[in-house]
Amino acid sequence: MLENFKKIQFKMPKKFSIWHIVIAFGFFILLQMYLMNPGMRNVSYSDFKRLVKDGMVLECHINRSTVRGKLRETERGTTRNTIFVTARVEDPELIKDLESMGVKYEGQYESPWFKTFFFSWVMPLIILFVIWRFVFKRYGPASSIMTFGKSRGRMYVQEDLNVTFDDVAGIDEAKEELQEIIEFLKTPEKFRALGGKIPKGVLLVGAPGTGKTLLAKAVAGEAGVPFFNMSGSEFVEMFVGVGAARVRDLFSQADQKAPCIIFIDELDALGKARGVSPMGGHDEREQTLNQLLVEMDGFDSNKGVIIMAATNRPEMLDPALLRPGRFDRQVVVDRPDLHGREAILKVHIKEVKVEKEVDLHAVAAMTPGFVGADLANLVNEAALLAARRNKKAVGMSEFEEAIDRLLTGLEKKKRLMNKKEKEIVAHHESGHALVACSVPHADPVRKISMIPRGIGALGYTLQKPTEDRYLMTRSELLDRLAILLGGRVAEEIIFNEISTGAQNDLEKATEIAKLMVKEYGMSERMGVVTFEQGDRPLFLGGGFAASREYSEETAREIDLEVKRIIDESFGRVKKLLTEKKEILLGMAKQLMEQEVIEGEELKKLLEELHKATEEKK
Ligand code: ADP
Ligand code: ZN
Repeated sequence: MLENFKKIQFKMPKKFSIWHIVIAFGFFILLQMYLMNPGMRNVSYSDFKRLVKDGMVLECHINRSTVRGKLRETERGTTRNTIFVTARVEDPELIKDLESMGVKYEGQYESPWFKTFFFSWVMPLIILFVIWRFVFKRYGPASSIMTFGKSRGRMYVQEDLNVTFDDVAGIDEAKEELQEIIEFLKTPEKFRALGGKIPKGVLLVGAPGTGKTLLAKAVAGEAGVPFFNMSGSEFVEMFVGVGAARVRDLFSQADQKAPCIIFIDELDALGKARGVSPMGGHDEREQTLNQLLVEMDGFDSNKGVIIMAATNRPEMLDPALLRPGRFDRQVVVDRPDLHGREAILKVHIKEVKVEKEVDLHAVAAMTPGFVGADLANLVNEAALLAARRNKKAVGMSEFEEAIDRLLTGLEKKKRLMNKKEKEIVAHHESGHALVACSVPHADPVRKISMIPRGIGALGYTLQKPTEDRYLMTRSELLDRLAILLGGRVAEEIIFNEISTGAQNDLEKATEIAKLMVKEYGMSERMGVVTFEQGDRPLFLGGGFAASREYSEETAREIDLEVKRIIDESFGRVKKLLTEKKEILLGMAKQLMEQEVIEGEELKKLLEELHKATEEKK
């Protein structure tokens, strides 16, 4: 994203707004006024008569509605001639006055029709046209009304990429997942012969600056194939149909260069779920999106064209984009952890001279929450500081100062957590994990992390299912509920207050409780009945009230039952975590130090903490 300097320079406002037209119109009116009466002074008729009597009027032209003429004016000792105009009043005396003062006067016939016509119609049209042309010149070469739909013969390809996987660090899981794609692009014939199935579309999901664009380029670089780069927002143009034409163009160009990669940045800009906008949809975006879907469906992936796209809001995407045969493979590009950050720093430090004493591990430890782009920025900033201080190499003090500067900026932009938030997140996640380790029917915890993942979550606790589950028992569901509530209860116990961070957990918990009551017949009070037909409509947000097959009263009872289940679980978790408060505190402390605790480590830590609390007793 950062390299496209050339593009940025030519960036234009993307859309005509009504204001452009209003401003242009106002401009014409002023212009017209000026053309019709240049530098004229308006005087009232009475003033005009006085001026005539004072002998200041030199000459005048009288027509049906106005009197214009030349006027002598004295101002601070200098005299000069000005042109004046006044509205004509029926005044038989005027000619007499003019005669008596010896003013030269003449009548005038109506100004010829073509003059009026020219100034008020032809001229503005010409000017409008000139501006129109000017605007389109800037939009792109050789564009005119006739050709701009054809995306002006623009080539999207960037062939001379020398980005490789060595330039991408700290996101090894994502790299691994893309390895197969590289193999395929290198030798498509081999895959074809084996009948292997290759994904058409790969969606890279991750926060801004985590290196999604870089990763896509590296895949192209590693495979040695052309890279077609386009941003989703570029597709959404001011005229309906242009975006769709561009998509068509892009794919036909890619087709000729296969094997290759098409990369669409900011996919959410054009792939937002259709029909959710309050204005009733966005025609242009929809058309473009439809065209993209058509092209993706029509593409034979065996040809060797892989479509990669990046987004940081996968939940906003139109579900149609994620169907099989489209972006059916998702690769999560996480924020780097401690080791990852060190590795990324190593990549970027290559072009900078650093002092020997600089400890990149320490720098990485000081920058939790930084993404790749922030770290690249950090190295750059430190180098600039060193240059300003006339140093030969970048030292630790420059890094520290650069971190301070970036930290304030990033915290303002809400990309980093402050200390208090970190504490809350650490205890919240520890709460989830501790409950998961304590209840009998939970999957083992694989990882606790307080590095934000995706967009919504500030931290996360990963459980590894021991087997694929199709059936769950009531006690298993209750345990799952307890784990979900663990985060919030931990916050309550430790800080005696609760934050907004648990909202998603609560939603999920409520969902489970509802399912238990309404569909699985797992509530004692409501009995073994299912209140919901299996097939629920998949509308976004479920705006339409699904037809209910039970009475108001039953609905109320269901709600009460759901609440009871949740309340009971709350009580259970609260008891559990209060008993293990010491362990919870220990876990959170360790998590804050390490940011990430993996499964094995967690086991050991728990054993140690157990022992420690036993001894205290
Ligand atoms: P995104 O597309 O996810 O917003 P970019 O790929 O545009 O992020 O990253 C911007 C810049 O940040 C890259 O050009 C690179 O210099 C740096 N960067 C980001 N992630 C990494 C990484 N994992 N390893 C090395 N450099 C990175
Ligand atoms: Zn949570």
